[in-house]
Amino acid sequence: MAKNDDYDYLYKVVLIGDSGVGKSNLLTRFTKNEFNFKSTSTIGVEFSTRTVSIQNKKIKAQVWDTAGQERFRSITSAFYRGAVAALLVYDITKRESFENVDKWYKELRTHGDKKMVVMLVGNKSDLKHLRSISVEEATRFAETNNISFIEASALEATNVDTAFTNVLSDVYSILN
Ligand code: GDP
Ligand code: MG
Repeated sequence: MAKNDDYDYLYKVVLIGDSGVGKSNLLTRFTKNEFNFKSTSTIGVEFSTRTVSIQNKKIKAQVWDTAGQERFRSITSAFYRGAVAALLVYDITKRESFENVDKWYKELRTHGDKKMVVMLVGNKSDLKHLRSISVEEATRFAETNNISFIEASALEATNVDTAFTNVLSDVYSILN
């Protein structure tokens, strides 16, 4: 019988981080190769998918975006349920968004699966002249918490595919 939708594995990935850091644009860049200059806040939880090839397997990433709830701290355990990976996003030009990374990380570890693969993503790397968090500082947080770290730009499409495929590939190695 034909395989459902033609993929080998389905992995749920969640995007978390402060409002305005670029989560929705990272999602649309990865799944549709689109970017939106206006910040559009959607009510409710959204997801979008893309299938990538990792070690000759078709991995379907189902990426969930927290549309709006980040403002109201109402992300429920349903959002994290079944998630095997998370991209924890901050904006390299907004110190506050980096300061909140610790809170997001604790929430993730409280509500999410203990084995979840987490990557810290410093988005808006195209705005280097406005940088307020150094690579060294972010690397320190990542090393302390034993997670990976990358800087990316949803606008320039830099490291977006790499961020997603790295976590998917880590998940694949852990589960297989
Ligand atoms: P969210 O609230 O975390 O979902 O953030 P959005 O994806 O809605 O982005 C918030 C704002 O930042 C929008 O105006 C985007 O156009 C902008 N933005 C998102 N990613 C980037 C990026 O990589 N570089 C720059 N310069 N702006 C970005
Ligand atoms: Mg959004």
